[in-house]
Amino acid sequence: MQHPLVSVAKDLARGFETRAPKWDKSRTYCWQNVGELAASGIMGMSIPKEYGGQGASFLDVAFVVEEVARTCALTARIVVEANMGGISAVMGYGNHEQKAFCAPHVLAGDKPAICITEPDAGSAATDMRTTARKQGRKYILNGTKHWITGGGVSKLHLVFARVLDEAGFEKGIGGFILFADPVGKIAPAGFNVVSRERTMGLCGMPEAELRFDDVEIDEKWLLNPANLKHGFADLMSAYNSQRVGAAMICVGIAAGALEHAKRYLLERKQFGRPIAEFQGLQWMLADMDTQVHAARLLVQEAARSRGPGGSLYPDMTMAARAKLFASEMAIKVVSDALQMFGARGYSDKEPLERMYRDVRMFTIGGGTTQILRTQIAGSVLGIKTSQTRDGYLPDPELMRQAAE
Ligand SMILES: Cc1cc2nc3c(=O)[nH]c(=O)nc-3n(C[C@H](O)[C@H](O)[C@H](O)COP(=O)(O)OP(=O)(O)OC[C@H]3O[C@@H](n4cnc5c(N)ncnc54)[C@H](O)[C@@H]3O)c2cc1C
Repeated sequence: MQHPLVSVAKDLARGFETRAPKWDKSRTYCWQNVGELAASGIMGMSIPKEYGGQGASFLDVAFVVEEVARTCALTARIVVEANMGGISAVMGYGNHEQKAFCAPHVLAGDKPAICITEPDAGSAATDMRTTARKQGRKYILNGTKHWITGGGVSKLHLVFARVLDEAGFEKGIGGFILFADPVGKIAPAGFNVVSRERTMGLCGMPEAELRFDDVEIDEKWLLNPANLKHGFADLMSAYNSQRVGAAMICVGIAAGALEHAKRYLLERKQFGRPIAEFQGLQWMLADMDTQVHAARLLVQEAARSRGPGGSLYPDMTMAARAKLFASEMAIKVVSDALQMFGARGYSDKEPLERMYRDVRMFTIGGGTTQILRTQIAGSVLGIKTSQTRDGYLPDPELMRQAAE
């Protein structure tokens, strides 16, 4: 049975559609949409009931994401990050205090920011140099993160850092819950939103560089401190849910583009008849429809799956497969839909040009298609491929400095 919030999302999506050009052109965050998502219960719908959410499954969230992404990919990204990724890591690996702190913020409209990527650590995320060094009952955070979605508007930040003991020896990579509210001008000393990227698409979403200069964090905000050696791999397993969400955004954008194409094919006449009568376009449309259906099934399979050992999160290979296929599929489908509009598709009279820009990032953010292929190949072959490192490795330079 469909979750009741799916039809709520469908209703809200009409308003999101009207306003989508506004956020795109003005490059502003869609606070009005966020307010509606929070009021409807979509923000944090996956949070367990005991923390105020609805305990919805990732599959339920995925259905909601598709409805929203059909009209506004920007808003769909907020739905994903308010239910999957960072917040799901807190709900899976956090203690009671951490969950009780984070849940109300998300339910009220906060989209948590997940802070992994650094200027010299992109695909090779475990090359990160941000450190959190123990000092009494606190950690002192230093480093730079970039391409942080929501940087400058998010309040909750899940910041990944190399965790050092008081002597400077590395214990593993851990995730810290850091609260800062740049909009409300509340931030711990040393927390800086340095700059914002000027992006090609999804223009209402800030992608920011954040710098941490001796930021003090109470030790109680470190997630899963007892398991730091495997902390990074564990926390990244939560990221599989975010990949499923991103894949469903792609399905939604492509399904939306397909709807626009269908409308125009029946409406536009050339050579004295609707262009829908031309077989060249019919076959394109059939391929688009088939690809969208195939991607949706892959995403649903991944959303239902669970990783090994009773994991709370989707299976890594299924999530990778879904995001790989859906992201490449959506770029092609949106491009073909735009083609069907001729010159009109190339102008901002139609939403296709925005959708074309929006969809482009999904083969990059959250794991590039090259990295996803490497993961899938490793899983098919049953080997650890030599092209990426796996999980946590101590940083030899930091260990050398500590030993001096
Ligand atoms: C819109 C957007 C939002 C983002 N949001 C966030 C966020 O909220 N939080 C966050 O932490 N990060 C975020 N990122 C960063 C994103 O996760 C990284 O961009 C991504 O992991 C790739 O890193 P990179 O850009 O440094 O590329 P690089 O790692 O430098 O890769 C460059 C090229 O080399 C290829 N490559 C690298 N290694 C291999 C290999 N072993 N085999 C084959 N090819 C390889 C890549 O596929 C790519 O084509 C976001 C990025 C974008 C674009």
